[in-house]
Amino acid sequence: MIIMKSIYFDYAATAPVDREVVKAMMPYFSDRFGNPSSIHSFGQETITAIDAAREKIAKLLNCRFDEIIFTGSATEANNLAIIGLTKGLSEDQYDPIRANRGMLFHIISTEIEHESVLKPLKKLQKEGYEVTCLPVSKDGFIKISDLEKAIKNNTALISVIYASNEIGTIQPIKEIGKFLEKINVKRKIAGLNKIYFHTDAVQALQFLECRPSWLKVDLMTFSGHKIYAPKGIGCLFVRKGTPIRPIIFGGGQEFGLRSGTENVPYIIGLAKAVELVFKNRERTAAKMLKLRNKLLNNIIKNNKSARLNGSFDPPTSLGTSSRLPNNINIRFPGVSNETLLVSLDQSGMAISAGSACSARAFGASHVLTAIGLTEKQAKESIRITIGRNTTEAEIKEASEVISKTIKKLKSI
Ligand code: PLP
Repeated sequence: MIIMKSIYFDYAATAPVDREVVKAMMPYFSDRFGNPSSIHSFGQETITAIDAAREKIAKLLNCRFDEIIFTGSATEANNLAIIGLTKGLSEDQYDPIRANRGMLFHIISTEIEHESVLKPLKKLQKEGYEVTCLPVSKDGFIKISDLEKAIKNNTALISVIYASNEIGTIQPIKEIGKFLEKINVKRKIAGLNKIYFHTDAVQALQFLECRPSWLKVDLMTFSGHKIYAPKGIGCLFVRKGTPIRPIIFGGGQEFGLRSGTENVPYIIGLAKAVELVFKNRERTAAKMLKLRNKLLNNIIKNNKSARLNGSFDPPTSLGTSSRLPNNINIRFPGVSNETLLVSLDQSGMAISAGSACSARAFGASHVLTAIGLTEKQAKESIRITIGRNTTEAEIKEASEVISKTIKKLKSI
């Protein structure tokens, strides 16, 4: 039996596909189904559509057509960015005299990355690469001074998540980009290699300025299903000249960087979704910020012991905010999140404990422990993320249901 959720508050996990996106995709399932690599007219039709989708995204991001690489997910894009770049750099530095192996570089990242960044880093570490994961403050921010101290002569890549999928905190990507630009000038003069900069912008694209030239990033990841396109489509911006190599081999699609027949309808859907994001970004963000603040204020008013995890930002405009406008990550001391989420689900509210994109179910979140919570405190925390379709009525109902449920569980 399928239980219909009356209120969905897990938009950071995934969002429904926008009807306009579905409409744009539909012809490419059964009518325009040619393989984009085929020479005949069926293939011409779909390669032209892919080119148009790539052009649309490139224009919106103010980058080149051939800097947009479609992948099967943001997970794959993050893997391609990290493993593909280190592989490329190692191959470029390949020195047959030095034991037939490339140079093992140093990579800097943070303790609050998504698993699709942390796991490839762990793999590289096992292979001998050096990895430094920067700590974050109790509010969830890295310090540029820590980043500066961590840089070594053999540092080749810095990967920092733009906005946290768990606590919504926004890292100073533009400032890091500017800082690295200066550092790289000095390194060039000193004969050192360039440090490349990657950001996982999966949760950020919907709300924040993401043009790579503005951020001064070399690599940027985003995902379809967080911006109302389908699951199973991702994208990696790769600045021209970045020495990246493929991690999947075959027919050489996507400028040789991602082999495999292109997922035509999903690519078309992704481009439509990005277009809608850019068209409505300010309006959507402002609406969500208002609703999110209302919900947060109601929850705190009715539950005096509740504690917001991560940056507490009362500002009303997105420009001054340090937290995504749709995110609440909150702790109810003495209440297990597992029990709370099951109870809320029974009341028709879909909320999560944190990253739903990992099979780790109810383990303590590495992001929450990174901001200083104990394991117990992390397991008392839930993540509420609202979306484009969230209404005032849902916020009102949710405030009441959450408060009632907390009271009931505390009394047991
Ligand atoms: N990066 C972040 C910040 C995410 O939130 C997610 C998914 O939750 C991913 C990467 C992975 O995205 P995908 O599901 O497209 O692989």
